[in-house]
Amino acid sequence: MKLLFLFYIFSISILSANIQLIKKENKDSNTTLLVVAGIHGNEPGGYFAASILATHYKILSKNLWIIPNLNQKSIIRNRRGIYGDMNRKFSVIKKNDQDKKIIEEIKEILLSEKVSLVLNLHDGHGFYRKKNQGSIFNPNAWGQTCVIDQCDLKQDQEFGNLNDIAIAVKDSVNKKLLKQHHSFDVKNTNTQYDDEAMQLSLTYYAVTNNKPAFAIETSKNLSSLSQKVFYQLLAIEEYMRIMDIKFQRNFDFNEDEIAKILNNYGTLSINRNILLNLSDIKKSLSYIPIKSKSNIFKFSHPLGDVRKTNGVYSVFIGNKFVTALKPQYFKLSKNCQEKLDFVIDGKKFSFQNTSEFFVTADFKVIKSKKQRVNIIGYQPKVSGDESEVPVSLSNLNKNYSVDKTNKTYRVEFYNKDEFCSMSMVHFK
Ligand SMILES: [Zn+2]
Repeated sequence: MKLLFLFYIFSISILSANIQLIKKENKDSNTTLLVVAGIHGNEPGGYFAASILATHYKILSKNLWIIPNLNQKSIIRNRRGIYGDMNRKFSVIKKNDQDKKIIEEIKEILLSEKVSLVLNLHDGHGFYRKKNQGSIFNPNAWGQTCVIDQCDLKQDQEFGNLNDIAIAVKDSVNKKLLKQHHSFDVKNTNTQYDDEAMQLSLTYYAVTNNKPAFAIETSKNLSSLSQKVFYQLLAIEEYMRIMDIKFQRNFDFNEDEIAKILNNYGTLSINRNILLNLSDIKKSLSYIPIKSKSNIFKFSHPLGDVRKTNGVYSVFIGNKFVTALKPQYFKLSKNCQEKLDFVIDGKKFSFQNTSEFFVTADFKVIKSKKQRVNIIGYQPKVSGDESEVPVSLSNLNKNYSVDKTNKTYRVEFYNKDEFCSMSMVHFK
């Protein structure tokens, strides 16, 4: 057999107890860039950039590890740190600190032998300038900087010339600015001598263990999330070039394309029998047929999460609230059909049980032995089974649509009183 691939690329996501670590690796090298995002939950530029790195980049040589949402509980609440500042817990941490497990795990990852360079992504206040130019542009601002704790590590340490590397990155970013006042600079916190707070930080922990580490700070004062992500990715790509990590991205590098990617929330699978497209979903959906506990939620987006409060499941992508799912609890039937038969615009089709199908005029579900059908929003109401009933858009009550444009509806399958699966019908 002919060998088709000279190198083997794999992308694995390891959900250890507390941290999502996505590895994009090649067998040819131990050189690894570790990108850590979301240590502060209200700094979306960093964690949305990391999520795009995870989903839209292919690493062709060497390795990229991504932690897109270190402080996920704070991210979905859009707060810096619900248990205090996680980036001040790397020197000492109290026994009963709620972040303790995450801190212990991330420390271990930082010191992995493979990790060659660490980036910690933030959105900071204002625009850093060496001279004071008012409340937004001044030496105390953090925005638009490559931050280093000191100029160098031990002499023989690869990528240990932190200052030179940071200067090279900011020079490269400054060639591609969207606006002139977005310019980047190097901010050296001179942590060992001048900055007691930073001595407790992630990068300083890495640096004191002789791991090259930098922070990238895009400005909170940039006008859009897409601009923040643009600069984060621009800087990260430059670090990859410096490390000679070859990569491919599947989009054109500009703000509009990044905005499009950011608006795509992907899908949410629940218990493998419901598949929701989150990009155009209504702010709230009712009577979602799930179990009373132990539901399995799987997102295609690395920043997807569910938070249950007062019996409602709120769905988030990063710090963005997407939809509220109000449940109706069912047992899941073990006696269901995997394939379902339909007549769509006069032609017969079969689909997998969580498919989305497209209709121009009308459709009906072909009656099966095992399952009854409930078409959510169908009017006039049919009692019992709604298979063999022709359905067009005019039969459907808009209040029950799944999407904001009122074109997508739920077709649900039950075996007696137990839930089987949900399909989606989309009217063109
Ligand atoms: Zn921060």
